[in-house]
Amino acid sequence: MRCQPHNGHQVYIWLENVQTCLLCDEQTDSLSPICIACESELPWLIDQCEHCALPMPMSGLTCAQCLRRTPAFGDVIVPWLYDFPIDTLVTRFKHQGKWPIGRLLAELLGQTLQHRFDEGLQRPDVLIPVPLGNKRMRQRGYNQAAMLARWLGSVLQLPVDEKTIRRVKETPAQQGLDAKARKRNLRDAFALIEPHRISGTHVALIDDVLTTGSTADMIARLLISAGARKVDVYCLARTPKPED
Ligand SMILES: [Zn+2]
Ligand SMILES: [Zn+2]
Repeated sequence: MRCQPHNGHQVYIWLENVQTCLLCDEQTDSLSPICIACESELPWLIDQCEHCALPMPMSGLTCAQCLRRTPAFGDVIVPWLYDFPIDTLVTRFKHQGKWPIGRLLAELLGQTLQHRFDEGLQRPDVLIPVPLGNKRMRQRGYNQAAMLARWLGSVLQLPVDEKTIRRVKETPAQQGLDAKARKRNLRDAFALIEPHRISGTHVALIDDVLTTGSTADMIARLLISAGARKVDVYCLARTPKPED
């Protein structure tokens, strides 16, 4: 009579449980949710504006917008260009509720961030997702930035604060507006609840896609006026300039 009759069976199941790539469905030989070939083909953002991460022809440059006015936020960490297949993946996560895709992207962003921390980038004290307005929240049912922040928080062992910033004014969709119109649209859209919580902290603002950077800039200004020591921005993807 065997003492542990189920062990062999369980090992057998575990061996059969082959990991497949979430993007191409091929078998992966690592613990990563995507295969090495797919990971290397992602649109990695290399050359970027040193302030706002706008794609640039070479590294070490500052874009025209940041030359006119330096953004209030500090370091922007964004692994990818908003290009295929990242654009499709973000859309499926954000608008079709495909959470395993969001989770995968958050894990990869977490790996990028951990690598940067190991290289000397200062770890923030807290992650704050860009909030959705109540109406948008009711329509969509979830805030994709908050989900990203929670997943990142668990990967990086950092606290997440979803209470301090509120979107107090419903703003029309930002898509299709130029930078000036976005700024008008955003003015007074956000407010701080219990701003003393922010005093002296290093915040990382979390969003899915950085478009013009005006939302992040507006929130960073608000947080810094409440005494935040530094506000960085972590997001999945950066769009190029609209005319590019
Ligand atoms: Zn693959
Ligand atoms: Zn810039």
